[in-house]
Amino acid sequence: MAVRIQNIKVICTAPEGINLVVIKVETNQPGLYGLGCGTFAYRHLAVKLVVEEYLRPLLTGRNAEDIEELWQLMHQNGYWRNGPIENNAISGVDMALWDIKGKLANMPVYQLFGGKCREGIPVYRHADGRDLEELCHNIEKFREMGITNIRCQCGGYGGGSYGNTPGTAPAGALPGVYLDSGKYIRDTVKLFEGIRSKLGYGINLVHDVHERIAPSEAVKLARELEPFDLLFLEDPVSIEQTDWLRRLRRQSSIPIAEGELFNNPAEWKRLIAEQLIDYIRVHISQIGGITPARKLQIFAEQFGVRTAWHGPGDMSPLAHAANIHIDLAAPNFGVQEWSGIEPPNFVIQELKGPRGALLEVFPGLLEFRDGYVYANEKPGLGVDLNEKEAAKYPCENTVTMWTQTRRRDGSLQTP
Ligand code: MG
Repeated sequence: MAVRIQNIKVICTAPEGINLVVIKVETNQPGLYGLGCGTFAYRHLAVKLVVEEYLRPLLTGRNAEDIEELWQLMHQNGYWRNGPIENNAISGVDMALWDIKGKLANMPVYQLFGGKCREGIPVYRHADGRDLEELCHNIEKFREMGITNIRCQCGGYGGGSYGNTPGTAPAGALPGVYLDSGKYIRDTVKLFEGIRSKLGYGINLVHDVHERIAPSEAVKLARELEPFDLLFLEDPVSIEQTDWLRRLRRQSSIPIAEGELFNNPAEWKRLIAEQLIDYIRVHISQIGGITPARKLQIFAEQFGVRTAWHGPGDMSPLAHAANIHIDLAAPNFGVQEWSGIEPPNFVIQELKGPRGALLEVFPGLLEFRDGYVYANEKPGLGVDLNEKEAAKYPCENTVTMWTQTRRRDGSLQTP
């Protein structure tokens, strides 16, 4: 009997105060359903609407096993394609269909990709601090957990807290997160000099520019960071300015990771084919789920470009699981960003709050042990959803503040 899609539900939940969007695809087979992540934390109601009003009627009654056909159908049906709302909605369904496929095969999803290339996934974690001393202290905490890849930032991503208006802004300048790119570059170079002299070269260091400086400043920063042997420099230029990567390449040997904000293949094809980046780090739900991510991973493999998928707090454990399943089967896997889903006994209290609520809403979390993440061996993605628990943590719709970043003159800068 064909496995038919009977219903598609959207469950919005915020167990840690971050809006998460889970899509549940129910089938005509008793007890058989799939779960996927369509989290667009800052526009969660728009994703919910696309799934409920457009994708559910489109897919109800269709064969849940035809993942490629259904992905193309969702992608093409609205005529205009791509974009974060549409792609996250599609991703939620796509991941759920892979989850169903794994359950039907009685295999974890990575087995459907050809099986494991490696047993566990090395991750990088994000260390921050007000100054060098606090940062080094936090790095040491991660090293005690077995983490050897660490992203280092000082004072967030180079901006003050919201509402800080420096004396240099013109009269009437609006509130925002103010950035001083010159100071940020000087501080960052000094910071890495300090980390290396205090802790040596035995750890892999990453730094995230977060697109927050002008492209020519990114070239300068890359050159000045060269002596400190970074694993990579993350998102040095904005999605609109990737042509600058050619110049960055000519002037610096620093490895480059780019792509957190990418939406569609037109944005990465040339960068990979011309080897202008070393790591591709898309946000998998943002490009439409596992189906396009697998194609991207295999495409990148042909050009020697490695993967470093985005793995922030504003995506659900289902999306973290999707990352890990692809990583396990990818010969060109590089490193995985990990935002800290560990059993409560692993949690560093100074860095993160307790994770109890997340564990209760999403039973079957991936396992973190000594610097590596392991997939559980359950069929499908291996992560479930407790809808009763999820309902205890409703999402809130608020005006997003942290993305309102401004240059010293008060004008907006990409966040
Ligand atoms: Mg980043």
